Amino acid sequence: MAIRQIREIGDEILTKQCKEVKKMSLRTRILIGDMLETMYDRSGVGLAAPQVGILKQIVVIDVGDGPIVLINPEIIETSGEQTGEEGCLSVPGKWGIVTRPNRVKVRALNQEMEPVELEGEGLLARAFCHEIDHLSGQLYVDKAEDGLHDVTYEDDGDEETEE
Ligand code: ZN
Repeated sequence: MAIRQIREIGDEILTKQCKEVKKMSLRTRILIGDMLETMYDRSGVGLAAPQVGILKQIVVIDVGDGPIVLINPEIIETSGEQTGEEGCLSVPGKWGIVTRPNRVKVRALNQEMEPVELEGEGLLARAFCHEIDHLSGQLYVDKAEDGLHDVTYEDDGDEETEE
């Protein structure tokens, strides 16, 4: 596995629609492994393939309960509402306030290309929405309610979590 370079806002690849994954290949397996390694290296809670320059419908997420890999994900149900801070590895040093559903149900394929349905609440629901938005070229910055703010780092070195 290898750490890949993260594309940043202004790179037009982040604005494009990603393609459906039709079959699992060695190349795609390697991509998924690299995406996980890159996400953990940057202390992110999620990463979408276009963020490493690949226009495929793949996201990885880990909100602290272990890795989740979603291929061709779609949101099939939402409920409730949450308003909170959101960041993105492609928008370094910034955060914004975004309102998302509080519960989200997702249909996707797993790494074995088997259909799965997952339900998330709170941070996981937010991560599902944020990462799946990336697959259609959307960034949270367009949903931030009062613009973007600069991340200020505390003396103890704790970093904000970014997706
Ligand atoms: Zn992001």
